[in-house]
Amino acid sequence: MTQSTPPRFIADAMLGRLARWLRVLGYDTAYRAHIADAELVQQARAEGRVVLTRDRALPRQWRLERYLLLHAEAPLAQVRQVVEAFGLGWQERLFSRCLCCNEELQAAPGQDVAARVPSYVRQQQQRFLICPHCRRIYWEGTHVAHMRRLLAATLPPA
Ligand SMILES: [Zn+2]
Repeated sequence: MTQSTPPRFIADAMLGRLARWLRVLGYDTAYRAHIADAELVQQARAEGRVVLTRDRALPRQWRLERYLLLHAEAPLAQVRQVVEAFGLGWQERLFSRCLCCNEELQAAPGQDVAARVPSYVRQQQQRFLICPHCRRIYWEGTHVAHMRRLLAATLPPA
């Protein structure tokens, strides 16, 4: 695996908040709240994903080769462990992926922005992104600034 191909992940059913944070960072992270272990392992193998889990028995039970056992309970501390374990940059892909669907965002067409974004937001923001799957529109709001601060306080400097 080259440096230009970042690892892809699958988070187990207990790690929904970690999955969401990894999507914030822009890393391809599959997650479903209700997924049987067998299904999780099958998807990981079929799609070449690293299994993220807090279940010590899981890797042994399924003879996993690519996994990371998370130690921390707090989601941001878990994010830090993943970033450090795989030497991931956390700024270059930030906010490039849908937090709900894990799809890569695209530039939002003007008519979608005009129809669905409030006018006060359109006046303040230049750049709008859209999820090709759920059509949710993203832009830099105060919640994004808040997430940036949390990440900067938690993660090693890039
Ligand atoms: Zn989406």
